[in-house]
Amino acid sequence: MTDFLRRAADLDAADPIAPFAAEFHVPDGLIYLDGNSLGLMPTRVPARVAETATGEWAEGLIRSWTSAGWFTMPMTVGDRIAPLIGASAGEVAVGDSTSVNLFKGLAAALHLRPGRHVVLADGANFPTDVYMAQGLADLVPGTTVRYLEPGQPVSSGLGDDVAVLLLSHVDYRTARVRDMAAVTADVHARGALVLWDLSHTTGAVACDLPAADADMAVGCTYKYLNGGPGAPAFMWVHPRHHEALRQPLSGWMGHAAPFDFTRGYAPAAGARRLVCGTPQVLSLAALDEALAVWALVDLPALYAKSRAMTSFFVEAVETRCGHHGVTLISPREPAERGSHVSFDYAHGYEVVQALIARGVIGDFRAPAAMRFGFAPLYLSFTQVARAVAHLADVLDTRAWDDPRFRVRAVVT
Ligand SMILES: *Cc1c(COP(=O)(O)O)cnc(C)c1O
Repeated sequence: MTDFLRRAADLDAADPIAPFAAEFHVPDGLIYLDGNSLGLMPTRVPARVAETATGEWAEGLIRSWTSAGWFTMPMTVGDRIAPLIGASAGEVAVGDSTSVNLFKGLAAALHLRPGRHVVLADGANFPTDVYMAQGLADLVPGTTVRYLEPGQPVSSGLGDDVAVLLLSHVDYRTARVRDMAAVTADVHARGALVLWDLSHTTGAVACDLPAADADMAVGCTYKYLNGGPGAPAFMWVHPRHHEALRQPLSGWMGHAAPFDFTRGYAPAAGARRLVCGTPQVLSLAALDEALAVWALVDLPALYAKSRAMTSFFVEAVETRCGHHGVTLISPREPAERGSHVSFDYAHGYEVVQALIARGVIGDFRAPAAMRFGFAPLYLSFTQVARAVAHLADVLDTRAWDDPRFRVRAVVT
């Protein structure tokens, strides 16, 4: 293990992203490999939230909608995310949850492709994605959801009846990355649209939506973007669709003139029409503060660090723990992999619990995946090497084989 620790120290010394770790609060002694589920808290966030509450809210009250920019926050916070997905200023709206934004996007896509009634979805996608598609299909007569089975090429699921393809760019379980440009080209050749879920992409994996000619995208901000629990999600639609775009959650905050209080809905210009109701100001303030750091980050260096870190982890785990029968289910090729790594193991749940008891936090995804996330913005290679030493020890000593590690929690 000392060999991996020594290599980790060298990698840390040469890491241009390493200084950003100082921007985050790390609980004492914790090795946090779950930044792909809920990112660490940036240390500058609490003061910003306090200022929003005690200044803008307590003192400014209703005036803050204008004076503190609350009304425009869905778009100004979106502008901070835009560079991470190749979008331009004014193209990203922030609000609601990823689930709700999936609903808006799928419904808008059906509207943009009249006569086509199928939503084609990756059957192995994160559950909420397919659940939202099912809910929409129940609501819109004639709409059905068709699934791509694992390994099935996208092109074989496409047909003249497909309005929209719903895919994750990075698979939440395996971290496999889809070729966004190639898939989008296939989908367009068959006359359909594509809605990308970027929840496990943004802040860890390179993404250029316009370059891939994508149609729509949604994503989480509480994962690699560190916006905090329940932070509002983002949504992007290619500007070529803006004019015709109708999303069904046509609330007043997405209206062209909300304070005219007219009876008829008229969508605002551009991406503002993606906004539904009153913005979640306190959550947006936390997210805005968390996003400030990204303007300073050398993104290609960050993405390179993600690939180096996951490769280092795979090599260390296979070297130290391979004989225990842990099986890599993430792609071995770094370019095909997002920023987390999953190993299947029969007692994966117990192993993850035993690691958590030692202050090494990963998570478990049924049926058998031990999932470890590597947020490149704040993790060090030394932490990764230490985590592998703990994993090896838990397996070598069978420390996982303890009744208290078998109790299933509600959230895994
Ligand atoms: C985390 C995640 C979500 C979460 O959606 P919420 O509405 O924020 O609960 C959705 N899709 C994918 C692919 C995710 O990884």
